[in-house]
Parts: sequence; structure tokens; C-alpha cells
Amino acid sequence: MDITPADVASAWSAACQEYGAVYHDKASMPGVDWVGEMLARVGVISQADWARASTTVPLPGTQYSLVLLPDPPGEGEPLSQLRTISHELTHARQWQRDGYTYPYRYLTDEVERASYEAYAQYAAAEILWWARGERLDVDAWEQRLQRSYACSRAAAAHGAAMLTQHLDDTVCKGARSSAVAQYLIRHIEGRHR
Ligand SMILES: [Zn+2]
Repeated sequence: MDITPADVASAWSAACQEYGAVYHDKASMPGVDWVGEMLARVGVISQADWARASTTVPLPGTQYSLVLLPDPPGEGEPLSQLRTISHELTHARQWQRDGYTYPYRYLTDEVERASYEAYAQYAAAEILWWARGERLDVDAWEQRLQRSYACSRAAAAHGAAMLTQHLDDTVCKGARSSAVAQYLIRHIEGRHR
């Protein structure tokens, strides 16, 4: 499947309605530099990595999440951006589904954080498998959990085991299970029919 920038932009606007997400350009978001500086100071992530990383923040008192992306939807490299969008919209869905327990568990428990991130990576893994028939690199992702998400080695290993099992049991056997990835895939396949 050759995914175009227009596919990504279209899938994004449809999925935003579905999963309650609002886009904001990361570079111009007030306070983002300050957060990056703090994270760099405590050694969670370098400022350069932070600037390029996409982030989803629940908007308290609403069902919506704010999704901060380095490039506007439809203006990044299409496959890579679709994987990112799929990952971030899964976090938006977690907020819709779990309410305040989501940010609480995410921030206070590194095993919960690794699990939430694993579910979000299921979505990115399904997009990659669908578009290219390639298996997501779980080892690289496990290292990122430690480097960029302040997960201990044990918590990162837990997340990596979840993702490996998902790839072995479902994605590579054709039974996909990420609702967000499937929503995006159906939308783009519909455009190509
Ligand atoms: Zn994530």
C-alpha cells in the first residue's frame, strides 16, 4: 500500500472525531520548551529528542486529548506519520476509556506506563505490518522505554514482552486487534478503492 500525505491528513481528521483528539503544533505550544528542559535536567530525555517526539496530553474536564506532533498531519513522511498518529490516538482512546485513572496510573507506576505504551505500540506495529509486511523492532522500542519514558529495565521488559506476544499471536498471523489501527487502515483502504 502506497500511503500518500493526503491519506494521512484525511485519516487524521476522521479519527479525531472518533477518538476525541485535537492537534497542536509542538514547536509553538506554550510551555513545551520548559517541559523539555525539566525532562532533560532529570535525565529522562534530551531536549533534541523531546522536540522531535510526539506527545498526547489528556485535557482535564473533557473527553478530549491534545496531540502534539512535530509536523502537521499530512506533512510528515506518510508511513512514519501514520504510525505516530496511530500510537497517539491510542493514548487519546485510553483517556476516553479509563478517565482519570489513565494519567494517574501512567505517571505513578512504571509498569502501568510500559503497558499503556505497549498498547499504543500495538497500533503502530499493525500499521507497519499492513503497509510493509515488516515486524516492528521490539528491542529498539524496549530501549526507548528506558531512555525516553523513565521505565526501569524490568518495566521495559514487561512492555516488550506484551508487544512481542501481540506480534507473535495476532499481527503476524493476520488477526489484528488494535481498534485505532483498524479504523485508520479501513479509512485509507476506502480512499484507494
Ligand atoms: Zn506513547
